[in-house]
Amino acid sequence: MIYKRSSELFKTAKDYIPGGVNSPVRAFKSVGGTPIFASEALGAYVYDEDGNKYIDYISSWGPMILGHAHKKVINAISETAKKGTSFGMPTSLETDLAKLALSMVSGMDKIRFVNSGTEACMSAIRLARGFTKKDKIVKFSGCYHGHSDSFLIQAGSGVVTFGTPNSPGVTQGTAKDTLIAPYNNLKFVERLIENNINEIAAIIIEPVAGNMGCIVPKDGFIEGLRVLCDKNDILLIFDEVMTGFRLACGGAQELLGVNADIVTYGKVIGGGLPVGAFASRNEIMKELSPEGSVYQAGTLSGNPLAMSAGIATLTELKENNGIYKSLEEKSLYLEKEMIKVLEKTSLDFKINRLGSMISLHFTSDDVIDFETAQKGNNDKFKKYFHGMLKEGIYLPPSAFESYFLNDALSYSDIDFTINALTKVLKSF
Ligand SMILES: *Cc1c(COP(=O)(O)O)cnc(C)c1O
Repeated sequence: MIYKRSSELFKTAKDYIPGGVNSPVRAFKSVGGTPIFASEALGAYVYDEDGNKYIDYISSWGPMILGHAHKKVINAISETAKKGTSFGMPTSLETDLAKLALSMVSGMDKIRFVNSGTEACMSAIRLARGFTKKDKIVKFSGCYHGHSDSFLIQAGSGVVTFGTPNSPGVTQGTAKDTLIAPYNNLKFVERLIENNINEIAAIIIEPVAGNMGCIVPKDGFIEGLRVLCDKNDILLIFDEVMTGFRLACGGAQELLGVNADIVTYGKVIGGGLPVGAFASRNEIMKELSPEGSVYQAGTLSGNPLAMSAGIATLTELKENNGIYKSLEEKSLYLEKEMIKVLEKTSLDFKINRLGSMISLHFTSDDVIDFETAQKGNNDKFKKYFHGMLKEGIYLPPSAFESYFLNDALSYSDIDFTINALTKVLKSF
């Protein structure tokens, strides 16, 4: 494959945009090489500026669950655009998406729309602090909740129980209110709570983690968090920016059978346009401005184009519930076929999957948290990634990201992918 135009475009982009991209993972830093510049996408395929075609396994990192340029979504956006693109006044579309989203998930009375998953998680934390009148939060290492200061924190060293900033620009003052625990380790969370009694406002978690590869919660882990939160007046926040409307109509809450106090959404809920959201019960949501005193706002929040894309996408998912079953079957098929090919090699590997989220790790240990995810062999991953790319398969350009399958993907696309994998692994 030739990446001539992509590499020229990247060179120019770097002159004007830091690192040439508007979100770091796009720069291919962890796999090396030239990022592919997309020119268009249709269904399961994405095309680059050099005219190469790829089977797309990232689906814009989740939102394009129906496939790219889905007719109903494009029609909805175009019809809305003809009537103007932003008013700074309320529209009926916002209520329509709110009603629809709330009808699909359980335990949530009200929802507020924002413009990104980052904003949703940032606001959820503020709301939790305002409601509980406590300051500290617990997050899990390797979970990503967007790039707001409170979340860019890593575990502190030695005896300190609070975190330390993992980006310059995040203050120690902020870091001291974020406590870090390893994923899937309930005992650790119990100790954190004991050591910070009556100080923790919320525990925030990706109920199925997707930002250190795909990591499935162990039996009893999420249920255990629910019990600990109830016992200690701590709010449980599910960050369902990835899992919401993807793992099931009702997201991870439905699939795992556990309800959170606040749930954040993003990605699928905007159908490919910038939308984030957070939802909760009335007793909590009434604390939010303008009804309550916890401030939160947004000039473009609830934007009509974005709402239209969200309505079209969620409507399709709700009315055509078979999509989840078929995504599960396709993902299971992909997993099984990958295992067959990989087992014929001498490579150490682990595949983690739940529903249409899946990841391959080149390691012999079970991947259950950030520490075990880091044990993956990145040289092997790079080779695998670039090999697959050359065969026309677009995978996440980082070993710490999950694949997201979409409904447009066919069994023959998967067979094509497996043939590519067989070929690529021969050169290992
Ligand atoms: C993508 C993601 C976010 C951040 O969403 P943005 O729209 O990129 O700000 C937050 N949480 C999770 C779990 C995500 O996957």
